[in-house]
Amino acid sequence: MAKKTVRNYCSFCGRADGDVRMLISGINGFICDSCARQAGELVREALDKEGNGDSRFNVSLDNIPKPREIKAYLDQYVIGQDDAKRYLSVAVYNHYKRLSQPKDDSGVEIEKSNVIMVGPTGTGKTLLARSIAKLLNVPFTIVDATVFTEAGYVGEDVESILSRLLQVADYDVAATERGIVFIDEIDKIARKSSNPSITRDVSGEGVQQGLLKLLEGSMVNVPPKGGRKHPDQDYVHVNTRNILFICGGAFDGIEAKIAQRMNTHVVGYDNVQSAAQLDRENMMKYILPQDLKSFGLIPEIIGRLPMLTYLKPLDREALRNILTEPKNSLVRQQVKLFEMDGIALTFDQDALEYMVDKAVEYKLGARGLRSIMEAVMMEAQFESPSWKKKSFTVTKEYAQQQLEKANLPVAQ
Ligand code: ADP
Repeated sequence: MAKKTVRNYCSFCGRADGDVRMLISGINGFICDSCARQAGELVREALDKEGNGDSRFNVSLDNIPKPREIKAYLDQYVIGQDDAKRYLSVAVYNHYKRLSQPKDDSGVEIEKSNVIMVGPTGTGKTLLARSIAKLLNVPFTIVDATVFTEAGYVGEDVESILSRLLQVADYDVAATERGIVFIDEIDKIARKSSNPSITRDVSGEGVQQGLLKLLEGSMVNVPPKGGRKHPDQDYVHVNTRNILFICGGAFDGIEAKIAQRMNTHVVGYDNVQSAAQLDRENMMKYILPQDLKSFGLIPEIIGRLPMLTYLKPLDREALRNILTEPKNSLVRQQVKLFEMDGIALTFDQDALEYMVDKAVEYKLGARGLRSIMEAVMMEAQFESPSWKKKSFTVTKEYAQQQLEKANLPVAQ
């Protein structure tokens, strides 16, 4: 007599085990692969709505590090720039205090503390923002303000900033809404002349107006794939109220505007003494919001970036420290790379000094240090995996020889 085969059925959709790819058994029933997947999606959506989705970005407001702790963390990665670190630490701390503020509070609403960092290129603005995001474990993205043009013109809409954040957050809207956006080269969207223009200023004021909406905190329709908005596209609604914006820019020539303001100020008070006390080498530290205005940022934008801080140009000593001090310094990275091939790598002090001298000589700053290091280590990185020897020291002569071979300066 033929044995009757016992068939199992999905308790949700009723399909039999032969009709589905997989049937998972429970105590009193079964669930097929497709129902399990759908159930997973439902759960995720529901939790996202509550704002505590199953995300890899879990920001707990109970254990936000204190400003001193944030600064100590930044110290591990970024050399110097103490003022900027302090500002950022406080801004981030307040930002999270704000997020944890109960809704029915005393009517005192803590305003968002978006940050603007002014300083020469390659002095650590992006690195600071990136390090903060790493510490807080929130979605983080870097955008370049120069790619944006006013809606309707060739270029990207400002909303695409949020598309990128959304992508980084794996389309988790709740996580996106607590992310950090670093907008680089904000100075490039400054109005070219301080008088509002009658003709259209495609990449200047119009973009600033667009940006304003994001900085203020509003519900924004975001094209999930980025690029331009299309009427037939589905949008994701993102509230920017709790997104922290950190802007950076070199603001070339702003020192002259600061000096101008300071001089008039000092002369106005007829105080020769304070004029003498000015640190003329580093006028940036006297920067005030009104200097950003004379540079061409509209007052509304400046008002939405209340934390204004500056970064100093890196001197020789800072460059020297950047080579060895940060947790993932260039030297440590090379040592690690060689260690993976079982080779103990060391650098002679004068080899390091030589590399710093070259970076200073060619005015390459911190970015140049990296190119110099790569050029010096290129051959060794190519050959060392086939070496028998288990240790290698980079001497000044070796560094010199390699750099000459590499045809540096790497003028970029
Ligand atoms: P910016 O955004 O100011 O143009 P970045 O932060 O991108 O400059 O710096 C470029 C690179 O130079 C960084 O990736 C980092 O390796 C190095 N660097 C710059 N400034 C510092 C600093 N203060 N401390 C450590 N590294 C730095």
